[in-house]
Amino acid sequence: MNADYIAALDIGGTKMAAMVASREGPLARISQPSIKSGTPRSLPEQGLALIDAVCEKAGVPKNAVRALGVASAGPFVREEGAIALCSPNLCGGLSGASDLPNDWKSIPLEKVLRERYERLAIDNDCVSALVAERAFGAVIDEPDCAYVTWSTGVGFGLCVDGRVLRGKNGNAGHAGHMLLSEVDESVCGCGNRGDLEALVSGRNVGNRSHMPAAELFQKAREGDAQAREIAERAANWFGRGLYNVVATLDTRTFVIGGSVWLHHGDWLTPLVMREIESRFPALTGGVRILPAALGRLVADVGALALAVPEEWIPAWRQSKPWEKLANA
Ligand SMILES: [Zn+2]
Repeated sequence: MNADYIAALDIGGTKMAAMVASREGPLARISQPSIKSGTPRSLPEQGLALIDAVCEKAGVPKNAVRALGVASAGPFVREEGAIALCSPNLCGGLSGASDLPNDWKSIPLEKVLRERYERLAIDNDCVSALVAERAFGAVIDEPDCAYVTWSTGVGFGLCVDGRVLRGKNGNAGHAGHMLLSEVDESVCGCGNRGDLEALVSGRNVGNRSHMPAAELFQKAREGDAQAREIAERAANWFGRGLYNVVATLDTRTFVIGGSVWLHHGDWLTPLVMREIESRFPALTGGVRILPAALGRLVADVGALALAVPEEWIPAWRQSKPWEKLANA
């Protein structure tokens, strides 16, 4: 028995969730606002405490947890070889303009978690979403695919020849920061002007239209001409970003999630496909877009998928035990 129980953490800029699961599926889930004060160790220590709490809730002895999967907001840096978080939504010491109540320049996530868990996998939230969609969702048995989120930000998880890409610091897939427009003045949270995220993020689309992005996309869906023009422009930029990924990695299937796509993927898909297919047919022939099968649960399932033992996967595909997390 090498894995009686596994645990998972989903660490975001605003909240953190912990889950514990057995071979039968997730047993319990707890979520809390992410800690943003104290020492740089405070956040990973909050994660360990939350795992203890979720084990207690599920009646699982905490020393029975064999492996931990962590899906986290990026980007990452390496400190003495270990992954540390360098996220502007958590670390107040990264920019002079931050209003966070800390001066952290990085968070020693892997170092602290490894003090307790030897079997530990940490990936950013889009990479873990990709791992989950490949294990349980829309792209099982698809070796050349990418997970893309389109919400307040834009991020990718990339898979080529059946291998999930990670890169030197685990930041492969930060293609939301690919530069697309020299003339557009939109600024991304990373500081770039005219990168993909700056052009299509919920924040940017909202700024252009002077209304919340959710409202803008809804008006566009209903046929409001001005809203439609702004949304179509964003869809064109988004399609251009996907084209660049196809041209670079020879991707066949994009599985797309995030709040914009969850609500509006039905009518945005043809616009994005048109942008991809209008370019270099030798590269773009056969490219397809699928909606994320795990929907709103992709973050939770993503964290779990990083720790799930191979031999549990076939049964989970059948029983879809994560669905009960929707009510947890
Ligand atoms: Zn950027």
